[in-house]
This record gives sequence, C-alpha cells and structure tokens, in this order.
Amino acid sequence: MYNQSMTVGVLSFQGDFAEHMDVLASMEVQAMEVRSLGDLKKVDALIIPGGESTVMAKFLEEEKMSREIAARVKQGMPILGTCAGAILLARKVMGKNSPKTLGLIDITVERNAYGTQHESFEALIKLKGKNIPVSFIRAPKITSTGKNVEVLARFRGVPVLVRQGNVIAATFHTEVQNATALHKLLHQLRHIL
Ligand code: GLN
Repeated sequence: MYNQSMTVGVLSFQGDFAEHMDVLASMEVQAMEVRSLGDLKKVDALIIPGGESTVMAKFLEEEKMSREIAARVKQGMPILGTCAGAILLARKVMGKNSPKTLGLIDITVERNAYGTQHESFEALIKLKGKNIPVSFIRAPKITSTGKNVEVLARFRGVPVLVRQGNVIAATFHTEVQNATALHKLLHQLRHIL
C-alpha cells in the first residue's frame, strides 16, 4: 500500500520500539530496528519511540549517533519523536536531570508534566478533523513553540503534536492502540517536503 522504497528505522535501544515496528508492519511499510551508525545509514526516515529519554540519550552518545542523526535531518530525513522521543528532539528541556537533546525542533518541553505513571491517561485528539485515540504516559508538556513550528493538534489548549519541516514531535503515544495516524504523517512528509 505504501511506497516500498522507503525504509523507516525505529531507534531500538529502549522503550516501545517493538510496538512501532508492529504498526509499521501492519501498514506494510518496510522497517528496521536501529541501534548503530551502520543501521542509521540504511534508513530513509527515523522514529524515536517513547521510553526514558535520559536512557536513550546515553545510548545515542555511546553509539556516537547524535551528530549523524542531526546531519541526516538537516539533509531532509523525516523524523518522528513520540513522548521521550519528542523530548529528545526538543531544543530545550525544563527541569533538573534533563537529558542532552538533539535540538532539532524549536520547542521547549517540561518532562513528566502531567504527573506520574498513575496519572497516565487516554484521550481523543482531533487531527485533520478526525478524532484519534491516544495515550499520555508520563508525558511531557510543550511549553513554548518557535515561530517556525506548526501546531497540528492540541489537547486542553496545549500543543501535543507539532511539526517543523521534516521533524514531527508528539507528546502522546498511538502505537499502544496500534493506530497509524502518526506513522502516516511521517510517511506523507516525503511527498510534501
Ligand atoms: N517521562 C519519560 C521521559 O522523560 C517519557 C515517558 C514516555 O516516553 N512515555 O523520558
């Protein structure tokens, strides 16, 4: 159904990478788990999943991948970060013990801004006129967006899905519901950029 020449990589050090791989498989999109610079070279787009941003940041540093990801994104590689992934894409993270981020989208985020694991919740988000079910799991809040950042969806007035060029950040998860909306957006970037 989708353009088979595109291989989507899922950063697979930690977090819910397997769920993203499942969604991509259900869409019949070619996908591979990415754990090294060598893997990164083989993909045309990248997803940074939810999980623990501090842990993923350490792996990225150990594998010396941060600079290469930034360079690829500057060359136009589409990238999607969800939850911890959105934190890693942000220009700035508020709060102590914040991870070193890739700084690829002009947003400021506050980690764990909706509370602890117990306060995680499901909600409906309106995207392109359609309601999609999503989960906020120890989610960050986007507290400011730069002028080049487009807000694609809000929840209770707060931006939860944003885009700057080929970079998409979502503070929620959809892969838990096996929903494809975010993955479709990433795929569409190839055609609109
Ligand atoms: N609270 C996590 C962090 O700061 C993100 C949670 C998630 O990805 N579900 O990294």
